[in-house]
Amino acid sequence: MFYLFRTFTQMKILLNKTSLTKSLRPFNDIGFVPTMGSIHKGHLSLINRSNQVCDKTIVSIFVNPKQFNNRRDFKTYPKNIKKDLKLLNITKQVDFIYIPKVKDIFNNNKKPKIKINKKDKILCAKFRIGHFEGVLDVMDRLTSIVKPNKIFMGEKDFQQLFLVKKFLKNKYNTEVIGCQTVREKNKVALSSRNHLLSKENLTLASIIIKKIIYLKKIIKIKKNKNKYLKTVKSDLEKKLNINIEYLELRNIYNLKLSNDINKSRLFVAYYLNGVRLIDNL
Ligand code: AMP
Repeated sequence: MFYLFRTFTQMKILLNKTSLTKSLRPFNDIGFVPTMGSIHKGHLSLINRSNQVCDKTIVSIFVNPKQFNNRRDFKTYPKNIKKDLKLLNITKQVDFIYIPKVKDIFNNNKKPKIKINKKDKILCAKFRIGHFEGVLDVMDRLTSIVKPNKIFMGEKDFQQLFLVKKFLKNKYNTEVIGCQTVREKNKVALSSRNHLLSKENLTLASIIIKKIIYLKKIIKIKKNKNKYLKTVKSDLEKKLNINIEYLELRNIYNLKLSNDINKSRLFVAYYLNGVRLIDNL
């Protein structure tokens, strides 16, 4: 692995907080792209955006154990650090990569427990107990270590973006910038979890997202949109033999259920062969 690090000339690899602090000290316009690795074009679009607006770009690769509410999900989460480093190197847009160990992030210093408001316990927060508490905790720690001017995150994980923005706003002088979802030609959103799907599952994922694109159009004329979506949800579950956790239209500014197609998105979470996928349009 260390041999591999030496082959990257313009990307500096940082394995702990101390080397990160030292390396970043001279710079004051830093863009940060936090990831859990298994790098794909969605991640690369965030890096590209950071590179356009910031002097230096730092990417973190850290599979945060605290945000997994399911042990099996954590164990099977795709990891391929060698391939990730190669992909990131090719972009020539990454100045630093932070690959910390768990103890570098979650050291002994006790922090007050992060709590999600009751009104925010919707969508993924309702089904993945403790997930966003883990996300906010790691984003709090990473932000205080990296001290970036801007953080780039994907709209693919819209609720995550919403909660992180809200949480960091009051604590740090850092702007969180949401970036558009990158999709395959068949409309499936790129996701590290797609690696866990079979060809048949990926075809099914494409069928589902195309149905949702169509649904977003026809829902305009429905009187009670979320009531209609409930019927569609159970029809889709029966027809495709899948488990859909939610299919809801929500306002993009407060994530409340909405009956107005403007300023709203359709949010979906479903399982394919035990793999949980989310998307929004
Ligand atoms: P992850 O490695 O899955 O934690 O994702 C790291 C960042 O990449 C998050 O801000 C995600 O929202 C973002 N991301 C993941 N998939 C996509 C995608 N298809 N398009 C754009 N951003 C994405």
